[in-house]
Amino acid sequence: MTRTLFAGGAVFDGTGSAPSSADVLVEDGLIVDVGSGLDADDEVDCAGTTVLPGLIDSHVHVLFSGVNVLRMMQTPFSYPFYEAVHNLRTTLDTGITNVRDASGADLGVAQALRDGLIAGPRMQISISMVSQTGGHGDGWQPCGAVMPLLASHPGRPSTIVDGAGDMRRVVRELVRAGADVIKVATSGGVLSPRDDPRHGHFRDAEIAVLVEEATAAGLFVMAHAQATDGIKVAIRNGIRSIEHGIYLDDQAIEMMLQAGTWLVPTLSAPRAVITMADSGVPMPAAVISKARMVLESHDDSVGRAITAGVKIAMGTDSGVGPHGDNLSELGLMANLGMSALGAWHASTASAAELLGISDEFGTLEPGKRADLLVLEGSASDLVNLRDRVRAVYQDGSLVGGAPSSAQESTH
Ligand SMILES: [Zn+2]
Repeated sequence: MTRTLFAGGAVFDGTGSAPSSADVLVEDGLIVDVGSGLDADDEVDCAGTTVLPGLIDSHVHVLFSGVNVLRMMQTPFSYPFYEAVHNLRTTLDTGITNVRDASGADLGVAQALRDGLIAGPRMQISISMVSQTGGHGDGWQPCGAVMPLLASHPGRPSTIVDGAGDMRRVVRELVRAGADVIKVATSGGVLSPRDDPRHGHFRDAEIAVLVEEATAAGLFVMAHAQATDGIKVAIRNGIRSIEHGIYLDDQAIEMMLQAGTWLVPTLSAPRAVITMADSGVPMPAAVISKARMVLESHDDSVGRAITAGVKIAMGTDSGVGPHGDNLSELGLMANLGMSALGAWHASTASAAELLGISDEFGTLEPGKRADLLVLEGSASDLVNLRDRVRAVYQDGSLVGGAPSSAQESTH
């Protein structure tokens, strides 16, 4: 058995302690030890770098490649599956070794990854977002045409639902289709032209059934929740994470603290929409004006949640914006008061806890799987992170980054 030592770097182990110089010993895809004076067969020189657990993005859409509506209308049905291969590769090269897909990817994509047919982060899939009529997942356009961001197909059931009875069936269909997590929109959103991010969607009776059915299948629930009412209905009914959390009032923050609800801020998302609009990408006018409208409230809410100590996991909504820009989310969180080490923690141990995978991922500790990011420079510097990804490992194997600069030697 080859024992490989990642030697000479600073180690951010995700356990809450500050980075310190140490070596990480890996054998058979597992972390064996973290410390000094460790014996190994191979050595990876990590001098000048920080060695971190593989990162986790809790909110991506690997089948989305931007939200240019005109382009989407002209894109053949199956093309996004091929784009996903590219998007997954790009995400892996960014240092991200686990993701939660917040709608779009189906069991075929997940299985291709799990079988090693394509390369990418490990992925939990939600397949399709549960949404009420006129809600965030409803593709109805003012002209009368229906144009969902991704069309339904046998592996991606339609999830527009009204009423508790139908809700039970829809969640069961998602479970049948292979969902690892259930996603629901409990408020309007930015990308859907005919709803309002300030309006709560679904009533308690509907969400209670959704959570009951997900729980029966052993699945967590994530809620696209922007409106204050939509956030509260999610928390009240035991939903695990609030995605976006744009209009958090003090009561909602208190409810999250009490219930232990997670926040996945996705600060990158409205910025990505505004950047695309400014560069002339065709988008519905309502989408552009909503992105501008929510920006300030979003930052204010997330800043107050950070100060209050709400549990936060990093998520980007990549796919709305470009895949590969994921790590800019850390700087955005830091701008709102999170420490640099807090941002790394949100991207490693915290995200692993949210996804329910912390027995295997999220920290560098003996027995954990050897997913590693070798990052040039110090973890306290969040600038130009993407360019500083030197090497990415899954289960101890080099899978991404810029490996030509990683010096491997045998001794
Ligand atoms: Zn999203």
